[in-house]
Amino acid sequence: MHGILKDISRILASLPGLGPRSARRIAITLAQQKEDVTPVLIELLKQMKNTIRKCRICNNLSQDSICHICSNHSRDQHQICIVAEISDLWAIENMGQYDGVYHVLGGTLSIANAIGPDSLDFHTLEMRLGESLERKECIIAMNPTIQGQATVHYIHEILKKYDHVTISTLALGLPMGAQLDYLDNGTLAMAMASRKEM
Ligand SMILES: [Zn+2]
Repeated sequence: MHGILKDISRILASLPGLGPRSARRIAITLAQQKEDVTPVLIELLKQMKNTIRKCRICNNLSQDSICHICSNHSRDQHQICIVAEISDLWAIENMGQYDGVYHVLGGTLSIANAIGPDSLDFHTLEMRLGESLERKECIIAMNPTIQGQATVHYIHEILKKYDHVTISTLALGLPMGAQLDYLDNGTLAMAMASRKEM
């Protein structure tokens, strides 16, 4: 493989979840699609680049300044699920049983990767919690990894000064090293339903 196809494969292979072999297969498939998939995909990618931004409340991706979850008043605005990545938010949404809202931190604390608290968005979260003294529940949903659990403890330290906020975390029993967005809906739903107050 060389030239444009090689360049496309290399870009695809750099995306999460795709190895070089799948990247090559996708590049070959896209190159052979003439009528339907490729032109539509090109148009959608352009639109995405021009219109998608971060929700100013929760950091979810959105075409509007406030995402469809934050602006949905039938959802429980007093229940905030704190996740590391947007893909975790989508995994919990796919589960179809969570009715609250979210806060996306933008990663997990990691000494190895030099990701400290300043690299993550705790500021917007604290602003949301400080807005009113109405009771709120923060559900911390991090991967059961060392970095994820370090982040759980850090969030707990930050949030425990808010008397009106109850803090809970996903029930242990998730396999160590697992990633939330790879868990099946049943396992994730169980971890959420049997969450523990911290
Ligand atoms: Zn939002």
